[in-house]
Amino acid sequence: MFRTVFQRAAAVKSAPRSSFKQAIPITRRHFTSDKPSSNGTPSIPAMLAVASMGFAAYYTLVKSREGQALPRRQQQKPDQQAKPTEIAQAQETTTIPAFTTDQVTVVFVLGGPGAGKGTQCDRLKKDYDFVHLSAGDLLREEQNREGSKYGELIKHYIKEGLIVPMEVTIALLEQAMRESMEKDHKYRFLIDGFPRKMDQALKFEEAVVPSKMVLYFECPEQVMLERLLKRGENSGRSDDNIESIKKRFRVFKETSFPVIEAFEKENKVKTVSCVKPVDEVYQEVRVVFDKMFEK
Ligand code: ADP
Ligand code: AMP
Repeated sequence: MFRTVFQRAAAVKSAPRSSFKQAIPITRRHFTSDKPSSNGTPSIPAMLAVASMGFAAYYTLVKSREGQALPRRQQQKPDQQAKPTEIAQAQETTTIPAFTTDQVTVVFVLGGPGAGKGTQCDRLKKDYDFVHLSAGDLLREEQNREGSKYGELIKHYIKEGLIVPMEVTIALLEQAMRESMEKDHKYRFLIDGFPRKMDQALKFEEAVVPSKMVLYFECPEQVMLERLLKRGENSGRSDDNIESIKKRFRVFKETSFPVIEAFEKENKVKTVSCVKPVDEVYQEVRVVFDKMFEK
């Protein structure tokens, strides 16, 4: 939806004035050399004749379709080689997942900003042969990619601690998953920092693949704040500053935490406290992973 509107807006904005005629088809006028009726409007018998012909055609069509099912919108799968933007477009009509849970294993790794998701994923990926995909990293990469249509938009959302529209994020994730599968034959994914909003969760599970588990890192705000401010000393990130951090905390509480609660109702969530030092947190994470996954 977002992309379509965005693209149309861009197309209209960049179109030269003359091309507006092509963009908005104008109904062709038909001229006749017959003499018009005296006052220029058709006579009443002529109008009645046209109306009864129209009704007869409609009646015949309805009769001929009696007992037939209504036409359905076709389901489309995203093209295997499609670029992110093309996948995003295809997803607008996709209702079947791109992958099955037999082919692909997805673990969503969630928690507040600075809880330590990335730190723990770095370890997990080595020990359990997972690919670590951070939604935030993918968005930052896209933001910095030369020629990206979404660069400016992503920059704004990240600085403001807002949730980037899901079409962009899901398309980037799906493309990264495809690349890992095709190039490295890897089919297990830790998806870090995603989903952050209910619509993302629903769309991803419907259009890409349902998740197997949700790993939730619980951490008090004060601890996260200290970690983020420390990280901000050399991260170079536009959002590791006190104003952006406050906004990110608010978004996490109001928008992202309800996603974890929803997954809890499905019994998919494993919660680990992230307050202790990295190694100790990891020991607890390993207990969870040892039960769920082979090394
Ligand atoms: P997230 O991915 O959740 O935003 P990071 O993994 O980047 O968080 O961690 C945020 C900061 O906190 C990093 O600088 C990291 O080194 C540090 N950190 C992560 N886990 C711990 C921990 N258990 N104890 C202390 N510092 C940690
Ligand atoms: P992170 O690197 O996880 O701390 O994310 C940094 C920022 O990237 C967030 O504050 C959002 O602006 C954006 N972002 C990260 N993940 C998502 C997501 N799943 N959906 C939308 N925006 C995201």
